[in-house]
Amino acid sequence: MTPEERVEHLRRELDYHRYRYHVLDDPTVSDAEYDLLFAELQELEQQHPELITPDSPTQRVGAEPLEAFEKVEHPAPILSLASAHSVEELYAWRKRLGRLLSGDDGVDFVVEPKIDGLTVVLTYREGRFVLGATRGNGFIGENVTQNLRTIRTLPHRIPANPRAGVQPPAYFVVRGEVFFPLDRFEAFNTALIQNGERGYMNPRNAASGSLRQLDPQITAARPLTLYVYDIVTWEGGDVPEKQWERLEMLRALGFPVAAEVRCCDTLEQIAEMYTEWQQTTRNELNYEVDGLVIKINDQPLAASLGFVGKDPRGALALKFPAQEKTTRFIELVVNVGRTGILAPNAVLEPVEIGGVVVRHATLHNFEEIARKDIRVGDRVIVKRAGDVIPYVVGPVVEARDGSEQPISPPERCPVCDAPTTRVPGEVGIYCDNPACPEQLVRRVEYFVSRGAMDIASFGKETGVVLIKQGLIHDVGDIYYLNRDDLLALEGFGEKKADALLAGIEASKRQSPVRLLTALGIPYVGGVVAGTLIDALGSIDAVAAASEADLVAIEGIGPRTAASIAGWFRDERHQALLDKLRRAGLRFEAERKAEQGPQPFAGLTFVITGTLPNMTRDEARAFVEARGGKVTGSVSRNTSYLVAGESPGSKLDKAQELGTPILDEAGLLALAGEG
Ligand SMILES: [Zn+2]
Repeated sequence: MTPEERVEHLRRELDYHRYRYHVLDDPTVSDAEYDLLFAELQELEQQHPELITPDSPTQRVGAEPLEAFEKVEHPAPILSLASAHSVEELYAWRKRLGRLLSGDDGVDFVVEPKIDGLTVVLTYREGRFVLGATRGNGFIGENVTQNLRTIRTLPHRIPANPRAGVQPPAYFVVRGEVFFPLDRFEAFNTALIQNGERGYMNPRNAASGSLRQLDPQITAARPLTLYVYDIVTWEGGDVPEKQWERLEMLRALGFPVAAEVRCCDTLEQIAEMYTEWQQTTRNELNYEVDGLVIKINDQPLAASLGFVGKDPRGALALKFPAQEKTTRFIELVVNVGRTGILAPNAVLEPVEIGGVVVRHATLHNFEEIARKDIRVGDRVIVKRAGDVIPYVVGPVVEARDGSEQPISPPERCPVCDAPTTRVPGEVGIYCDNPACPEQLVRRVEYFVSRGAMDIASFGKETGVVLIKQGLIHDVGDIYYLNRDDLLALEGFGEKKADALLAGIEASKRQSPVRLLTALGIPYVGGVVAGTLIDALGSIDAVAAASEADLVAIEGIGPRTAASIAGWFRDERHQALLDKLRRAGLRFEAERKAEQGPQPFAGLTFVITGTLPNMTRDEARAFVEARGGKVTGSVSRNTSYLVAGESPGSKLDKAQELGTPILDEAGLLALAGEG
């Protein structure tokens, strides 16, 4: 391809993608991929200036507005910023500035989050909000005043607090970003889809789609919000010279301004922020950010630097590596979990996302696949953010060529060929064969794990080997292994075989709470197992209890009760219990010896999060040894919530109910042992 052809190709591509993004609100490539194409075009044009034409995407900003909304001319161009993608590029930008600035010292910067939302231009006259427009092509936007008025965080009158002592001029225009709060997005989108509507690809599309509704009532029903970050026009009044002071003034007038804005004296501080935001901050905010915006604090100085092409020199968008990319979905792999659940996973054409090569992504479940109509062979958008397992966001329908294969929910287990079942009211599809080898591997793995029977000598590979050799058909068979069979296995010497058998033997003394946990009954983890044994005294009593008996126990909900009763009704599980009993495992709780003082008698505790020194099991044992009870969920009967790090929803519930909250030290102190 000649440079001329390549330039033409890139322009057509960019035009198409900009149209999809700005006009249709339905992009088919990620922002990062768009930026790459744009950067390539810019570079080619730099090398071949004779190829630059007035209609090149590098010479314009944004796309044409839709016809449906009235058009609004902005009082000044609403500019986009040049982007940088690394700290090196940030330093290079600063170096170029240094050559333009005489003296070069004393320049400081304001660093703002680059919110991934929809830019809006807000006009106020005589202290009232009179006009709001989208950015459009940077010169002409769409009049969305009625819709903006529905946003609760947008001030209708300025100053919002007349006693603030700040008076705005009779006419001014500010710029902000409307966005869809992340904590509302999932539930909102699910509800939309359940009503048979098409869901939004991401929060940005949801913000944009919600603001550009022709019916403002629809917008009003959505939780949009905004941050304001720039002054476009300020007629007649004094405007502070520093961006930092401008933001403070906007805040004082009653505009929402992001709390995360910082003032930085050095590039090192900015570089530090850039790292910190990628690692933690961006994952903790209630809005999506795709980078940081760096502005020279001294705005008249910034303005005096002029432009490169369409971009002002005095500011820079320092972008984060993308969390989303598109790639090809090559093959569907269905994994079988411990409970028999069939988990669909996508094998992907390897794609680098945020510095990591991603080859697999979860498709969540088959209902999700059907809902999003994801097909094998599709180009798909894959997201990898923070610690979350990479997942498929959705297909790029426009990229289909007809060869893609729709996916139907499996009627048989891909491993053992047993028929699959569904649980009413749940989305999961299960393999119903307890002898399914893959399920068995997961179940054995769980049975011997630290939180269950804790057999340290039982390695991960051991289960696979024993199942393959037909020595184990359920977890009960673990207790009937013999030394000769083990020695006949590849990789098993006497030492290894004896250690394994000793570990298995020792585990027979584990408590019935651990044994009940290890059975892997859905919804029955360590805390619930403890609650059940506390209330009923033995595994046999749990097995004999009706659903109604179980629900009557505090901390056991109807879903858990149904799951327990169903599990024990299954004859195959009854046979397993017999096998375990004959092996000599403990089914019955020992009567608690009344040893030592019982300061927690009559008190009920819930333990959540990670405690600094005790595991949760240890904390439970600590409470129980002192006469207290531990349950799984916070209710009005909970005396104390013991909360460690990352406590989750139980902490919210406790705060809502006014339940006293203790940390580990507080728990010790309450026992008089702090
Ligand atoms: Zn199976």
